[in-house]
Amino acid sequence: MSIEQKLQQRSESHCELCRATDNLLVYEVPPRSNGQADECVLICATCHEQIEQPEKEDPNHWRCLNDSMWSQIPAVQVLAWRMLTRLSGEGWPQELLDNLYLDETTMLWATAISDDQESDDAIRHIDSNGTQLESGDTVTLIKDLVVKGANFTAKRGTAVRGISLVADNPQQIEGRVNGQQIVILTQFVKKSG
Ligand SMILES: [Zn+2]
Repeated sequence: MSIEQKLQQRSESHCELCRATDNLLVYEVPPRSNGQADECVLICATCHEQIEQPEKEDPNHWRCLNDSMWSQIPAVQVLAWRMLTRLSGEGWPQELLDNLYLDETTMLWATAISDDQESDDAIRHIDSNGTQLESGDTVTLIKDLVVKGANFTAKRGTAVRGISLVADNPQQIEGRVNGQQIVILTQFVKKSG
């Protein structure tokens, strides 16, 4: 039996989000790992278009989630959770979200995408020239830095080898100067080589 046949059977040939019966298609809920039916949802063209193109979103269409969020199918729960989160500014979706309980595995799946996006754009460590820094790089100080609490000045031109990035702060790196591990602001360094 094909995935589509399995889904047709599971959903009784209805959109698993809004119950529409026309223009149904198989949607693989990203990020997927096995491509099997349990990672797919049968949805209609209207739901699909709005999931893929947020600018075409009609919040009222998604009142259907009031029912479908109670589905026992994790892939459906994931889509419902993501759409309600996206629409939460409308008010009523946030109320539904407050009642929607996902088990741990399903929640990890539901949040998998937004986490990726965040780590892509939020945390990038950029030096004074706009060059992206990476863990293990060597950088040069571009000005004298007074190291608080350590009673020395790290001189301009000092090379700092094998830096590490401060994970939650794109403005900070750490490196060893004068035998001490110190925090350095990325705006005061440039990448060497
Ligand atoms: Zn639909």
